[in-house]
Amino acid sequence: MFNKRTKIREIISKQESQTGITVMGWVRSFRNNQFIALNDGSTNTNIQVVATLGNFPDELIKRITTSASLRVYGDLVPSLGKGQALELVATEIEILGDSDAEKYPLQPKKHSLEFLREIAHLRFRTNTFGAIFRIRHSLAFAVHKFYNERGFVYLHTPIITASDAEGAGEMFRVSTLPLENPPRDEDGKIDFKEDFFGKATNLTVSGQLEGELGATAFGEIYTFGPTFRAENSNTARHLAEFWMIEPEMAFCDLEDNMNLAESFIKYIINYAMEHNMEDLLFLDQRLAEEEKQLPTEKRSEMGLIDKLKFVSENNFERITYTEAIDILFNSPAYKKKKFQYEVKWGIDMQSEHERYLVEKHFKKPVIVTNYPKDIKAFYMRQNDDGKTVAAMDILAPGIGEIVGGSQREERLDRLTQRMHEMHISEEELWWYLDTRRYGTVPHAGFGLGFERMVLFVTGMTNIRDVIAFPRTPKSAEF
Ligand code: ATP
Ligand code: MN
Repeated sequence: MFNKRTKIREIISKQESQTGITVMGWVRSFRNNQFIALNDGSTNTNIQVVATLGNFPDELIKRITTSASLRVYGDLVPSLGKGQALELVATEIEILGDSDAEKYPLQPKKHSLEFLREIAHLRFRTNTFGAIFRIRHSLAFAVHKFYNERGFVYLHTPIITASDAEGAGEMFRVSTLPLENPPRDEDGKIDFKEDFFGKATNLTVSGQLEGELGATAFGEIYTFGPTFRAENSNTARHLAEFWMIEPEMAFCDLEDNMNLAESFIKYIINYAMEHNMEDLLFLDQRLAEEEKQLPTEKRSEMGLIDKLKFVSENNFERITYTEAIDILFNSPAYKKKKFQYEVKWGIDMQSEHERYLVEKHFKKPVIVTNYPKDIKAFYMRQNDDGKTVAAMDILAPGIGEIVGGSQREERLDRLTQRMHEMHISEEELWWYLDTRRYGTVPHAGFGLGFERMVLFVTGMTNIRDVIAFPRTPKSAEF
């Protein structure tokens, strides 16, 4: 067996001397032809490997360059040097893979995040991205743990769909028709009957409609998968391909929905704080350094870890849309004409409005409920006022919208009436409407954008830095 190694994370956590262990990893630096900082990706902490002078041939020493991969066998002993408690005194060093240090794109200096995006195939090897992606992993694991502990069924909803009724965003077409000269019908329109699926299909923008089918049989389900939106908005919070978690619960109203969303967010934050403190401390310091460059009024009031603790320990603020508009309307920002976009009842709040509520007014996450029906989807439950629907969005400091959800319209007549008003075909969604025909129940659910959650927990500011290989307009490298 080749891989009989100890991970550096384990060595660091045990802090015990040990004879005859094997470590494998990549060279981060090599000092005085003697001290190798080796990293294996299990932690940002390197192990110091000592290649005692004279014990190894010169040809081998020359090949110990930045990012070369090594297998080292030796004894773990208390270190004489500063900076580490233990070091690995090597008796055997094998070069697994050479690395031309002059050509290697990651030089031992600070690179900008923009540059690192161009070499996203190597950026995992930096401390910043090591920390981000170990935290991302933990958050994903915590998502499954949270729902599994509560008896939710993990439902895999399709990625290719034919329903374009949801209206959550622009879609990517999936087709095998020839781009030049596609088949056409009598009216000259492209004939999708000839296409692979016999109808026009797209990449999914949300698994919710299928999720409701699961919830009305299993009671509680969740999805966790990729979703696609051809939004041409080049923002720091939108991707064309992102991951979404969508729980859907039968026998559940808007308040139950909010309670679940709030405890879910707190749970996964706490999981990261329990399991990734070293990486969070690293990112906390990184953020503090970054913010030193900003003018005082632009700096965050709390460090990263304090912010996470604060959010996990305090209740989210809950207000209605109408109250939110009143707050904005009466705000000093409005009076001083600081908002670029109009404020009045009926608007789809812009990011500047959401950020004002969360960052300036309440200074904590805010759940906004009961939005005007005209800015929300057809399936949201209609309130008795005839104007609003039982929707809820969660807004997070520094991010804006992180969750969008609602109680669903379970009354068949109300639902079809709304579909009619919004020109949504009942025939196409016959299967969806069947849930309302056969044993309909009050039910609710939401979607949490996973990358926005990772942004929040890591304190990063651009969504391209928290997904391994971002897909955005004009960019699909790697
Ligand atoms: P926004 O107004 O920010 O575009 P939305 O109203 O389109 O969001 P929903 O359709 O409610 O969002 O989707 C649910 C969640 O998915 C959002 O709350 C957000 O966290 C996330 N999300 C939506 N669009 C994107 C995107 N393009 N990239 C990354 N995450 C997204
Ligand atoms: Mn959107």
